[in-house]
Amino acid sequence: MTKKNIDIQTEALVVEKYKLHAKNVNVFYDDFQAIKNISMNIKPNSITSFIGPSGCGKSTFLRLFNRMNDYVEGFKMDGRIVIDDANIYKKGIMVEQLRKEVGMVFQKPNPFPKSIYDNVAYGLTIQGIKDKKLIDQRVEKALKQADLWNEVKDKLKKSALALSGGQQQRLCIARTLAVEPSILLMDEPTSALDPISTAKIEELIHHLKEEYTIIIVTHNMQQASRISDYTAFFYLGELIEFDKTKKIFTNPEKKQTENYITGRFG
Ligand code: ADP
Ligand code: MG
Repeated sequence: MTKKNIDIQTEALVVEKYKLHAKNVNVFYDDFQAIKNISMNIKPNSITSFIGPSGCGKSTFLRLFNRMNDYVEGFKMDGRIVIDDANIYKKGIMVEQLRKEVGMVFQKPNPFPKSIYDNVAYGLTIQGIKDKKLIDQRVEKALKQADLWNEVKDKLKKSALALSGGQQQRLCIARTLAVEPSILLMDEPTSALDPISTAKIEELIHHLKEEYTIIIVTHNMQQASRISDYTAFFYLGELIEFDKTKKIFTNPEKKQTENYITGRFG
C-alpha cells in the first residue's frame, strides 16, 4: 500500500472515533413526538452548540445523554445513544456512574444552601470519599478550572448563596467538574447572566474543551458562533442541519437554517 493510502486510512479511523453517537433517535412524551429520527456524531474535545426556536427539542435531546429524561412522566425513546462505545440505554447501565461521566449545568445557577467548599465537595462526599486531603485538592482544582478560585479562596466556608449570579454559575460548573466527568452538558448556562459574567463563562468553556467534550444549548446565536466548533440546528423535533459552526453561519445548506440564523423566525 502506498503511504498516501495508509494516511487516508488512518485519517478515516481518526475521524470515526466519536465520543457521543446518536442513531435514529425518537422521543415521545406520551403521544407527542418531541424528537424525530435524529442521528448525530460528536467528536471528543469539541464544543457543539444546539440552536433552534423554543420548543424544538434541544433540551430533550441534550438530556438524553445523561438520561435525565428518565424522570419525566410519559417519556419514551427508541434508537441508540452511545457514549465511548457503550449503549447507555441498555439494561444494566449504572445511571449514577453515567451521570458522573456526563456532568450537567443548568440555565439557572442552582447552588445548594451550603458553603462554597461543601458545594464543590458534594459529589465527592456522596461518592463516599473521605480523604480530606484529596477532597481539598479536587475542590481547589475544580474552582481553578471554573475560574473562580481567586475570588473565593479566602471564603470557602461562606455560603454559596452570597455569591453573585455569575459566580454561582461558575460554582455550579466547579461542582460538576469536581467529580471528573469527561462530558459536559450545558443547557443555556448563561441566559440568566449579565454580559460580563457571560463572557467569563464563554472563555472558561473555551479552555475546558482541552479536557472535556461539551454540548451547549443556546438561544444566543452570537454565542454559538463564538464558542462552538460544531452547530446543530433543530426545528420542530428534527435535526435540520449539523455541521461546522463556520459553515452553518456563513453558508448553510438548508433554507430553514438560513432563515433562522438571519433572524427571519424564532
Ligand atoms: P427546547 O429546549 O428546544 O425549548 P424542549 O426539549 O424543552 O425544547 O421541548 C421540546 C418539545 O417537547 C416541546 O414541544 C415541549 O412542549 C415538549 N416537552 C418538553 N418537556 C416535556 C414534558 N416533560 N412533558 C411533555 N412535553 C414536554
Ligand atoms: Mg430548552
